[in-house]
Amino acid sequence: MSRIRSKNTKPELLVRRYLYANGFRYRVNVASLPGKPDIVLKKYHTVIFIHGCFWHGHSCLQGKTPQTNPLFWQNKFKRNKERDIEVRNELKALGWNTLVIWECQLKPKTRQKTLEEITYWLNEAYLDRFRLKKNQYSFAEEEPLSIAAEGDTSYSSDNQ
Ligand SMILES: [Zn+2]
Repeated sequence: MSRIRSKNTKPELLVRRYLYANGFRYRVNVASLPGKPDIVLKKYHTVIFIHGCFWHGHSCLQGKTPQTNPLFWQNKFKRNKERDIEVRNELKALGWNTLVIWECQLKPKTRQKTLEEITYWLNEAYLDRFRLKKNQYSFAEEEPLSIAAEGDTSYSSDNQ
């Protein structure tokens, strides 16, 4: 029971196909990184984990503790969660962003929204890298707003 994730699960493929179709390039199941992330996007400094709701104890219906032997499961889920946090911290220390997608977020009903959010998130992560660099030269506040120099244009007279 030590394996909590398997390779090439359907949700994983779903995300990969979407990313690929949208021009993102990645590596999969990268063993050299903590937690062996499902998807690694180097250019975006981002790794993606597709978490099964049951094993990783998501707060949705699938993540509910089974009624038989609840203590056993609660402990197991707790350990898995702690491990997830550890992995995330290790990755962070190495300069990686971690994005967790829950299996339930990839169900037909919410799938499109989730996939779009991943793209959005990746682009944000990418932009952030440049934003950080840009902040080293902050000249924005030294220059007065030139827009204010536009005269008082009256919009009201024609439109009434
Ligand atoms: Zn879930």
